[in-house]
Amino acid sequence: MEIIRAKTAGFCFGVRRAVETVYKQLEKNGGENTGIYTFGPIIHNEEVVKDMEKKGVRVLRTEEELKQLEKGTVIIRSHGVAEQVYREMEANGLEIIDATCPFVKKIHNIVKKESGEGKHIVIIGNPDHPEVEGIRGWAGADVTVVQTPEEAEKFSAGEGKKVCIVSQTTFNYNKFKELVEILSKKSYDVSVLNTICNATKERQTEARSIAEEVDAMIVIGDKHSSNTQKLFEICQNACKDTYYIQTLDDLDLNQLGSVETVGITAGASTPNNIIEEVQNNVRIIF
Ligand code: SF4
Repeated sequence: MEIIRAKTAGFCFGVRRAVETVYKQLEKNGGENTGIYTFGPIIHNEEVVKDMEKKGVRVLRTEEELKQLEKGTVIIRSHGVAEQVYREMEANGLEIIDATCPFVKKIHNIVKKESGEGKHIVIIGNPDHPEVEGIRGWAGADVTVVQTPEEAEKFSAGEGKKVCIVSQTTFNYNKFKELVEILSKKSYDVSVLNTICNATKERQTEARSIAEEVDAMIVIGDKHSSNTQKLFEICQNACKDTYYIQTLDDLDLNQLGSVETVGITAGASTPNNIIEEVQNNVRIIF
């Protein structure tokens, strides 16, 4: 059996940076937790989060929990947070370590500036995704999240209002284009900023081209990771035998019995050791 592993599988720059920030902070504290918190899981990967929790890093899951915290160091994850969250942490006297990915930070800055200039902000993305919630929190009152063609059709801004469109970094590029086309047909003065991260595009393009070649495709990543879900969608369209697994335990190796080529890719929050474990086991068994 031939195995093709995507070169772009695994941690992207922003996720690696955020994970390293937590471990560096732990090291600084002598490997012991002395009040280190992350606001939300640092990445969408249960294995990594569990390891950090074992070392004493606590995850604050809601803004309420954050508001009640009076002491400690809070690490902001790569998805970023709304402006108001910084204000709340500052008000509580917490130490803030900002691991927001610079590509996401760039969107915050764009949204704040364009919104300040009176534009209606359209964020193309999943409204429930923390990154989108964070971006939203840098805009003023005129902000709309658009995820589907129906929502794009329905969109309306105030009379004479200029519109600025940005995207969630992990959004599918073709869907982004489709939604921008619908929005551009409306008679607004529209500026479009494609803020999809290159890491995502490259990962999606490579995954598609591998999936088109192989008999079966394995996509590794946490079930809650939006970029992994999208990778799975793309691979499944190109190869019907596509399996979405979190770790090796989820893979039924019997299913791969009769195939000759297997492709492997992984979401941006999948650690290398998990990818290697899957790759090695597929190789050993076949
Ligand atoms: S996918 Fe891109 S924007 Fe998102 S964390 Fe990774 S490098 Fe940053």
